[in-house]
Amino acid sequence: MNELRIEGARRWGDPAPTALAIRGGRIVALGADADAQPASATIDARGQLVLPGLVDGHAHLDKTLWGERWHPHQAGPTIAERIDNERRVLRGLKLSAARQSARLLRHMVARGTTHVRTHVDVGPEMRLAHLHDLMHTRAACAGAVDMQIVAFPQGGVVRQPGTLDLLDAAVREGTDAIGGIDPSALDGDAAGQLDGIFAIASRRDCELDLHLHERGEQGARSIGMICDRTQALGLNGRVAIGHAFCLGELPPAALDPLLERLAMLDIAVMTHAPGGYMPFPPVRRLAEAGVHLFTGSDGVRDTWTPMNTGDLLERAYLVAYNSGFRDDAGLELALGMATWGGARVMRAPDYGLDVGCCADLVLVEAECAAEAVAAHPPRRLVLKRGRIVARDGVALLPAAA
Ligand SMILES: [Zn+2]
Repeated sequence: MNELRIEGARRWGDPAPTALAIRGGRIVALGADADAQPASATIDARGQLVLPGLVDGHAHLDKTLWGERWHPHQAGPTIAERIDNERRVLRGLKLSAARQSARLLRHMVARGTTHVRTHVDVGPEMRLAHLHDLMHTRAACAGAVDMQIVAFPQGGVVRQPGTLDLLDAAVREGTDAIGGIDPSALDGDAAGQLDGIFAIASRRDCELDLHLHERGEQGARSIGMICDRTQALGLNGRVAIGHAFCLGELPPAALDPLLERLAMLDIAVMTHAPGGYMPFPPVRRLAEAGVHLFTGSDGVRDTWTPMNTGDLLERAYLVAYNSGFRDDAGLELALGMATWGGARVMRAPDYGLDVGCCADLVLVEAECAAEAVAAHPPRRLVLKRGRIVARDGVALLPAAA
């Protein structure tokens, strides 16, 4: 379908219903101009809201148990116990990361995700096998979703010798970023891990996206070390930190200078707002300080947690809910993290709802963006580059083999 006109929908931020004309995968006209455009098909979208495609900025597609039988959660509470449990379970199940990632991706597309950044385990056990599987899925699903891959040293770098070489090899094979994880708490050598991964990022000109579960002052020290290296190597705007639980625990005297540095160095912060028993970054405070925020699913039905559904509109709801937001500005801030925030981290070209933007769109029954977050209603229609890829919650893609 080359020419499409969506009629009577509201665009996020524009209270008046309008028409959108789509041609060649892009929005080519709005309003009266769109009405004048030829269209081989029209969609009556009265009462619906148009959002830009949802962006899952932090997923683990290679490790999901999605589509498998229910797996009761068995892991202990520490990160090290969860890593060991995961290796044991996945070794036993012998699942294909290519198949599992395609299964979950299909579900995510049905929920309106048009862009995803997935972390992919790299380490001595699987070496680059998961990466190769995800590259296969990325190519197979290219028409429905744009995917970035982060080579992720889940088991650490210092405590698993050879991992840095694998990360380096992963970049040469085409990953978009490399990861890191708890340089003090897991690796026991913060400088060792950070110097290693920053050296690769600098040498290979790739991005960095680190997991940081470290709590309190330990986490704050690691963020300071990440800032030091970002600054020294001129990697401003190319580094992201996921979780950063410690930012939810620090007193203002410690938090404020850290936020100032994160904003100055344009280091993005991802939170999926775990809520409950876990601290997480104070979203509104970070936004006010100018820190770039985004969100993602994190693990979806895997050995780390049976929770999470891969639905980014539901995630925006959880970010708002767990942050205690009730005002429209708060709800829209959460939705911004699930859209423009992730798109900026992924450098998604021509993302948005204006003329000239890629027609990556989601239609939902809602009066405004705040209602879309509060109700996170079913996705009526999902478009990727102007092509309908999901309708009424069902992905129009071939089933995963
Ligand atoms: Zn993660």
